[in-house]
Amino acid sequence: MSAVIPIKRYATIVMVLWTSLVSASLAWNVWLQRRAVVDIAKIEAEAFINKDLSLRSWASSHGGVYVRPTAETPPNAYLQVADRDVVTTGGMSLTLMNPAYITREVHSRFARQFGVYGHMTSLQLKNPLNAPNDWERQGLQRFAEGKLKNYVGFSEREGKPYLDLIKPMFMEESCLACHAWTQIPVGGVRGGIVASVPLTPLRDKTAAVIRQMAVSHGGFWLIGMAVIGWIGRKAKHIQQERAQSESERQELYIQATHDPLTGLFNRRYLNEVLPRELYRAKRTGAALSLAILDIDHFKRFNDEYGHKAGDNVLRTLGEYLRANLRKCDIACRFGGEEILIIMPETGAEEVRRRLTVLFEHFRELSIAHQDATPLPPVTVSVGIAEYWAEAEQDADRFLSLADRALYRAKAEGRDRIVIFSDSVGDAPAGEE
Ligand code: GH3
Ligand code: MG
Ligand code: MG
Repeated sequence: MSAVIPIKRYATIVMVLWTSLVSASLAWNVWLQRRAVVDIAKIEAEAFINKDLSLRSWASSHGGVYVRPTAETPPNAYLQVADRDVVTTGGMSLTLMNPAYITREVHSRFARQFGVYGHMTSLQLKNPLNAPNDWERQGLQRFAEGKLKNYVGFSEREGKPYLDLIKPMFMEESCLACHAWTQIPVGGVRGGIVASVPLTPLRDKTAAVIRQMAVSHGGFWLIGMAVIGWIGRKAKHIQQERAQSESERQELYIQATHDPLTGLFNRRYLNEVLPRELYRAKRTGAALSLAILDIDHFKRFNDEYGHKAGDNVLRTLGEYLRANLRKCDIACRFGGEEILIIMPETGAEEVRRRLTVLFEHFRELSIAHQDATPLPPVTVSVGIAEYWAEAEQDADRFLSLADRALYRAKAEGRDRIVIFSDSVGDAPAGEE
């Protein structure tokens, strides 16, 4: 019989795999979304810095811009150049705003208006307000070493997450007018511009996308689980049906080939198996013996103790033979209280030895009657025939030889085993 496939275990494994797959897909998509937030924030910060650089380059190309000073934009104390403060011929006071000052002004307005913070910083500076923090210092040092083109970090402002980007500013000809003191050559890293972009708006947008993905993944997961469950149940059902029809088939086979009372094979099976065993013996030259046994005075059990007691004797003998014969021996109920045993690869003398021991023990078995009174010992008479190829025996002939030996055993007084021989064959006509 084929091994039973553990469908429930397989279904569970597939469900676990499906759950892992869907979870991995969700985790991967969430990770991609989070990375997209960082990428977008980086692009935003870069755009902010590029605009700064452009404004700064424009201001620097004009040597700064004159504006009317206000309380918010007073003259730059750190700018020490001639004509920093001038009065027009019309009497208007103007002060010179250098690129750094302009950028700082724009940064503070931008932060107030749009929440994106920016500032300029340098390792060499005049205005201490522009001093770099530790992270910015690291970035500037890396730029100076020529290792990086931009440097990304994360920070918090008022408990909210920000992405920080710092990009290098390079010394240009136009910067030298004010920054020659730094001794940084044209093209060298003058400092850096930092932009801090809030991550919260981007994360809020992504959270909505992630929620949608979680819902769709959940839906997929549920559909998958339902399909796996359905297939599992269907497969189990088919398996059960097959097992049932297999057991029905087996049951039918047993019914067709066995005798219900003794559990031994029946005559139909004998008719099938005996010619086959004869053929095998003929082909291989191995010995083959046939024994017919008949319970002595069986009728008495029926007559004195009832039909059920007789049945009980037959049943017990059947069980005894099934338990004590070799696996290769084939015992069939031939009819009534006659049992036929095919013993492959065994000569008649060997069969006699075996059966003598077997039935000596059987006689000593105490078979109980219905009311527990022990029945008298059961003895049997046995006729044995051994196959020999030269005689060209067929199944009927073989049976009749064993039967003649049995007849002889009965005639000689029962409770004995007789092997067919020519002398048996020569039995007086009256005995046959
Ligand atoms: P012998 O020693 O010559 O064999 O005598 P015997 O009584 O055993 O032989 P006989 O052929 O006279 O009787 C056999 C009896 O077995 C007759 C029949 O009623 C009985 N019998 C046949 N089949 C069954 C069965 O399945 N159950 C029972 N209880 N009796 C059965
Ligand atoms: Mg009998
Ligand atoms: Mg009989």
